[in-house]
Amino acid sequence: MSDKTFDIVIVGAGIIGATLARELSAYALRVAVIDKASDIPSGASRANSAMIHAGYDDQPGTIKADFCPIGNRLYHELAGPLDFTLKECGSYVCGFDDDDRKHLEKLLQQGRANGVPGLEIVNGEALRRREPYASAEITHALWAPTGAIVNNFEAVLAFMDNAQQNGVELFLETTMEELLLSPDRGEVVGIATNRGRFFAPVVVNAAGVNSDLIARMAGDESFFIRPTRGEYYITDKHVGHLVKSFFFACPTPKGKGITVAPTAENNLLLGPTSTVQASRDDTSTTGPGLAEVIDGARRLVPSIPLNMAITAFSGVRANPDTKDFIVNVLDRPTGFVNAGGIKSPGFTSAPAIARHLVELMEDRFSRRISFIPDPAFVPERKHIPRFEQLPLEEKRRLAEADRRYAQIVCRCEMVTEGQVVEAIARGARTVAGVKIWTRAGAGRCQGGFCGPRVVEILARELGVPCEEITRHGGHSRYLVGKTKDYWFRGEK
Ligand SMILES: Cc1cc2nc3c(=O)[nH]c(=O)nc-3n(C[C@H](O)[C@H](O)[C@H](O)COP(=O)(O)OP(=O)(O)OC[C@H]3O[C@@H](n4cnc5c(N)ncnc54)[C@H](O)[C@@H]3O)c2cc1C
Repeated sequence: MSDKTFDIVIVGAGIIGATLARELSAYALRVAVIDKASDIPSGASRANSAMIHAGYDDQPGTIKADFCPIGNRLYHELAGPLDFTLKECGSYVCGFDDDDRKHLEKLLQQGRANGVPGLEIVNGEALRRREPYASAEITHALWAPTGAIVNNFEAVLAFMDNAQQNGVELFLETTMEELLLSPDRGEVVGIATNRGRFFAPVVVNAAGVNSDLIARMAGDESFFIRPTRGEYYITDKHVGHLVKSFFFACPTPKGKGITVAPTAENNLLLGPTSTVQASRDDTSTTGPGLAEVIDGARRLVPSIPLNMAITAFSGVRANPDTKDFIVNVLDRPTGFVNAGGIKSPGFTSAPAIARHLVELMEDRFSRRISFIPDPAFVPERKHIPRFEQLPLEEKRRLAEADRRYAQIVCRCEMVTEGQVVEAIARGARTVAGVKIWTRAGAGRCQGGFCGPRVVEILARELGVPCEEITRHGGHSRYLVGKTKDYWFRGEK
């Protein structure tokens, strides 16, 4: 609960907070990132389509149109050095009639104006030669070869992990409650949280769906968020081959509509819906929402089998009434930065937004803090081994060096005890945190087999009783009391 002092405090460890933290870690600055969640990513960065958009969707001249194509290029450049999974799959926007064809033309021109390379409109036959399961009703499609898929968990972890390696401090389960201002309310002096005060002359609002509430604390009422839920199904990898690329229908006023897409790990992702709701954190799924997902997905790829769905989930968009990202520095109080209302294509745009924010801050705050490059900055990091994907020789070498890599914990995704232990060493504290790092529990059985084993390993590594291990922090405990002796604690 003690007070802490930094140069910059970032509120929110989603993709915006993480990419910005990494950019700032290249300077000799004391940077803190706080997040109310127990694991990262939380919020929209955890539950989205993970599409790295090419950049044709947004009207030239908008902030989105400026950042999206640059962000796309940066993901392609950074996936290697930061070791997160990126699949170069391209995307199609599919048209079913003449009106759609006109819309595809508009997107093509828009994309060219935004500097998106390689766009072309192909006819239905050409599409089906490449994608045999695409609907016979599709007459034309806009092909965008630079569209890509990432593992969004890995990407957020990668940026934040690299930032932490370069000295950034991450504080989880830490909720911003108040903005601290100078007596004349003209300058930011820090924030108050449930875990004490963080003093800093610069505070960045990267709080996603809560970004308008945080902006209000600085007296900024220029935007408000309409939380907008998107529901999804994920299928088994057995049907992952049904599409090779990301499939959209023509967008509607509600958004980009239901899509069918391969995930970075070869499942199929179906969704999302778009429903405005009052709650900022209700991520439940609904019967009508999931029925809409199936209808929309089968319009694009009719043969998707429903019995292959392994789970459903939803994410909440930070949908701003301004319809564009809010990326600015307030004139008063000095030291307050907004990166709010970051709806789609916010994941894609994040690395470009982060670079722009650093330029803005250097320009505006050079008298408050010094932006001196840190000669010790290391721009690369490694993810923990992805055991399932390793060649046999490499698997054997790992298992011989550390027997925990010979113990399979998650049979669906072939995750070993060695990976789980490494994830805990790198910061995972909950069962969801282990899943985010390793994919244990992300397969067909959704943790039915590996869940108890992961609880046991977490308890052992963290030195706490199994009853204290939670699914995702707070009150989400797995075990509520003993029914019989715990064999795994060796108790009789
Ligand atoms: C259904 C859906 C589909 C999408 N699909 C795509 C896509 O395919 N491609 C794409 O580019 N974009 C997509 N997006 C948009 C993208 O996910 C977001 O733009 C991006 O994740 C926003 O990142 P963020 O860091 O601003 O917010 P978030 O990821 O929501 O992070 C904000 C963080 O702030 C924390 N926080 C909030 N309040 C406080 C507080 N008071 N104190 C401390 N911490 C706080 C939260 O816990 C959270 O971790 C989609 C979004 C959704 C919901």
